[in-house]
Amino acid sequence: MKISILTLFPQMFEGLFSHSILHQAQKKGIVEYNVMDFRNYSADKHGRVDDYPYGGGGGMVLTPQPLFDAVEQEKRESKSVPRVILLCPQGERYTQKKAEELAREESLILLCGHYEGYDERIREYLVTDEISIGDYVLTGGEIGAMVITDSVTRLLPGALGNESSAVTDSFSTGLLEYPHYTRPADFRGYKVPEILLSGHHAKIEAWRREQAVRRTWERRPDLLEHVPLSDKEKKMIEKWDEE
Ligand code: SAM
Repeated sequence: MKISILTLFPQMFEGLFSHSILHQAQKKGIVEYNVMDFRNYSADKHGRVDDYPYGGGGGMVLTPQPLFDAVEQEKRESKSVPRVILLCPQGERYTQKKAEELAREESLILLCGHYEGYDERIREYLVTDEISIGDYVLTGGEIGAMVITDSVTRLLPGALGNESSAVTDSFSTGLLEYPHYTRPADFRGYKVPEILLSGHHAKIEAWRREQAVRRTWERRPDLLEHVPLSDKEKKMIEKWDEE
């Protein structure tokens, strides 16, 4: 997969790509990151990328020309038709489901806004998706682009080593993940649940599933509406509701 990021602050991404799973995924050739400073595409002799809003009001607005030119060049260089994603607080709220959908693409272009906003024609004629990473306002789209890049990369086949797995991660199963424990079995008198020390894999799996359902019921009951549950699990939930 190729992920291209159009930003005015390319250096913000240096740390992200030089550590951990994202760094390894690039080295293994699973993903290529291309960070582009869209100021370089400005036709203005001073490299301006923003201007005052028509109709007045505070803040500056990103002009369409540099972003259109940068995206069009990126599209010409892509082997497949890329999804063009605008980071935007007004966009569709980002979820693991959306990350899974994007991870099936061959190329993504992420546009990081800045200042008050961007010319509406960017939204109307250039992008295929608008994504918000939550109901709050950030200074720029860079942190959102990092969130998407990280969450998509870890879903690409081979990106995670054996030590971690995306399959049981929270949201991937529709449930929050079960609790984890490691050594020591007794830390200051706080004990690891007996079942995890039993070596009985089927029982451990059943315990983990029950814990995942319980945790989701406690913290994010809204998620349970979309998870296929067994009759036994449904009864368990009814009992917890009554308690
Ligand atoms: N005036 C805009 C509004 O009210 O919708 C907010 C502009 S914000 C200060 C600047 C840029 O940060 C946006 O264009 C967008 O790229 C990015 N941004 C801010 N909040 C975001 C969020 N929740 N999700 C994704 N991107 C966000």
